[in-house]
Amino acid sequence: MIDAEPLKRDGLRRQGAVVMRLLRQTYPQAVCTLDHAEPWQLLVAAILSAQCTDARVNVITPALFSHFPDAQAMAKADQAKVEELIRSCGLFRTKARSIIASSREIVAHHLGRVPDTLEALTSLPGVGRKIANLILGDAYGVPAIVVDTHCARISALIGLTDHTDPARVEKDLAEVLDPADWIDYGHLMVEHGRTLCVARRPDCANCPLAPHCRYAAGS
Ligand code: SF4
Repeated sequence: MIDAEPLKRDGLRRQGAVVMRLLRQTYPQAVCTLDHAEPWQLLVAAILSAQCTDARVNVITPALFSHFPDAQAMAKADQAKVEELIRSCGLFRTKARSIIASSREIVAHHLGRVPDTLEALTSLPGVGRKIANLILGDAYGVPAIVVDTHCARISALIGLTDHTDPARVEKDLAEVLDPADWIDYGHLMVEHGRTLCVARRPDCANCPLAPHCRYAAGS
């Protein structure tokens, strides 16, 4: 009996490569939309972005970073002051706690530098796999796939995963995407989810992925 798995995986790899080409043509400008100048700023911005738009985070961070320019300064911060500066992004108490606690960890255990491994990053308070992968990719150039809601939803629509759990989605994508494409894939998924494949009103008529999409095939 022929094992169909390798054939299926080859097909998915081809599909992944085609999707990358089409999305790069459609969104040549897709990059991380959280403003940052170095890894610690990206870490803070990513913590702030939970249930908040990147645009709102980008309004908040200039004042926050002018008061607390690095992990050393933030490690000594007064929580009430941080809360005041980030209040408009929601969940501000929890986020302030995470930003201060993670900065303290970075100072105490990583010489003040944001670590560059998945294990060390995910051990920081407030940092899960999604933020860790963002830091690895955008701050350090290490191939990593950021699976947010856009990425999980659209990856399932175009058949690259059958899962919804982000860790499973990430594993499926890692098996079929070229590591050289991992960082861009996350940015392209976000751009596509914000522009054409908006969750409740996807613009399938103008979508370059329509020939490769389960939803378009069934609609
Ligand atoms: S065809 Fe429609 S549902 Fe499919 S990826 Fe494009 S916009 Fe989204």
